Amino acid sequence: MSLFERVEIVAVIVQKFGGTSVANAGKIRQAAQRAVDAKRKGYDVVVVVSARGHKTDELVDLAAEITKTPRPREMDMLLSTGEQESVALMAMAVHELGEEAISLTGAQIGVLTDTTHTKARIVSISTQRMRELLSAGNIVIAAGFQGVDSNMNITTLGRGGSDTTATALAAVMNAELCEIYTDVEGVFTTDPRLVSSARKVERISYDEMLELASLGAGVMHSRSIEFAKKYRVHLRVRPSYSDGPGTLIAPEADGVTSIVSGVAFVRNEALISLVGLPDQPGVMSGLFTALSSAKIPVDMVVQNVAREGYANVSFTVAEDELPAAMKVVQVTAQSLGAQEVTTQTGLSKVSIVGHGMQSHTGVAARMFQVLAKHSINIKVVTTSEIKISVLIDRERCSDAVLAVHEGFELHQASAALPQVGYVATSRRNGASDASQAAVADDIVSRLEGMESILVSDVSADMNQSRVTLSNLPDESGIAEDIFTAIAEGGVLVDMIVQNVARDNRATISFTVPFGDLDRSLLLLREALERYEGSAVTSDRHIGMLTIAGIGLRSHTDVGRRVFRTLGDNGINVQMINTSEIKLSIVISASECDRALQLLRAEFGLT
Ligand code: ADP
Ligand code: ASP
Ligand code: MG
Repeated sequence: MSLFERVEIVAVIVQKFGGTSVANAGKIRQAAQRAVDAKRKGYDVVVVVSARGHKTDELVDLAAEITKTPRPREMDMLLSTGEQESVALMAMAVHELGEEAISLTGAQIGVLTDTTHTKARIVSISTQRMRELLSAGNIVIAAGFQGVDSNMNITTLGRGGSDTTATALAAVMNAELCEIYTDVEGVFTTDPRLVSSARKVERISYDEMLELASLGAGVMHSRSIEFAKKYRVHLRVRPSYSDGPGTLIAPEADGVTSIVSGVAFVRNEALISLVGLPDQPGVMSGLFTALSSAKIPVDMVVQNVAREGYANVSFTVAEDELPAAMKVVQVTAQSLGAQEVTTQTGLSKVSIVGHGMQSHTGVAARMFQVLAKHSINIKVVTTSEIKISVLIDRERCSDAVLAVHEGFELHQASAALPQVGYVATSRRNGASDASQAAVADDIVSRLEGMESILVSDVSADMNQSRVTLSNLPDESGIAEDIFTAIAEGGVLVDMIVQNVARDNRATISFTVPFGDLDRSLLLLREALERYEGSAVTSDRHIGMLTIAGIGLRSHTDVGRRVFRTLGDNGINVQMINTSEIKLSIVISASECDRALQLLRAEFGLT
């Protein structure tokens, strides 16, 4: 065929079926039928399949009967079998329906990952074999959740990782659409299994979904949304049991923003505090480097503004990661000169996410009011531009989720969101082989180190002031009082950090626009009069650095690089906030410019 001949390029669709959607023969047949339907509409179809039903859990339990400390390599060998079973059965089901299909393991596709067993990251994916099989008329059935490292060891991507396989394949295959078939109608305002009035949303932005997923909304693996955002994959979460339209995950729509779009929660969190750390540069760097080398994502990181030369740093980890984290922390704490390390378990994290909070005052106040009304005590608070997270006692987790969902009236749609769909057209005409090859090349080059960190910008804001309230009683309703007072004055609070109380006294720091500082201090005066012994300090000129990107929290390496860069250059960190899309750090105003240049250089931004 000549290079200039016009050919028809067949659009690729990726369909992913989760565990419940392939739990038994009947469901596998139904899923196969969807793939066959898409094929008969003219698509090239790549199907990604999870392990059946509770298969993965069963394998985990089985291993636990043999040993308490299974080696990660053997866990991956074991867990990957669940998906292997599913792909073979799915291929057979397609054959029965009269179409050609070939099943492939991660290794057979060429999903190359790093060597971090049980939570490996994708390095590259080869498209050649899939393209050949598709051209020959096959439906390609790919095993989700698994890959292979450079030594041919089987790896897995972490629980829920089939979503990530699906979006990654959609990215490299330049798919027109990636459909995630699951056991609910789509993405809801919170887990519909916990809150019956939860509402399915028509559309949600990548950023909101990224935050919700990483803050606990188990409907999507958060790393799958990183791919979707990086490579602009059109994602739709749909029910596998009906023809419901599901939820579109797409770039933020113009002009349609709800203040809060969802509530997410993580039930099992553990808190680690390093108490009495010398307040000097390099402390955060030491801690983050150690945790990052152990690949332990630290979650809600809070550092109190230092008092009398000592700082306290606290952060949460998933409760089942506590032993691994403590191994690292014990050693590091000693070398950093911490006076004490404390841990707390039995905690849950509840978060609200929404683009609208960037521009609406009083969102934090409302969340704290709702929690106070239900006498739920807040232990730690962290925020980012589009999320607020609180740490509370686990036994109040469900109450808190229900209360917050109701408090923000999430059962009602705040604005009619237009149903913007990527209407699937079955064939794209007119692209030449050459231009198609160019597209493929472009994608392959963009995908080098597919899951490597993407830091897109580092910026500085010199227009913020910090307020710190200390010696507050550790009771429910305090945060409510404070932020209600501020919200009533119409001040937009940016970063809020509340660290764990010590000796029953709590400290809360936050930032306000520079021009609103005096007014904020006035507004606070009355609220604080009620709390004997409380004190307020402020810093009119601070430097706020923001590192923007994708997957910043789950990639432990970003924190490590940021804190190492600052620490090595003698720049002290005063406050920190982390989220998947932003990492914000307060430092002294006089060091802001220098820090900005150093960080831009560190991340190769000129
Ligand atoms: P699959 O096996 O298809 O991957 P998962 O169990 O991983 O399915 O994800 C679907 C589940 O996610 C739902 O059954 C629901 O309980 C849970 N979930 C948690 N938060 C949400 C949310 N915000 N919207 C929808 N489902 C959610
Ligand atoms: N089977 C794996 C798990 O249960 C991956 C997945 O379902 O996405 O975690
Ligand atoms: Mg899942």
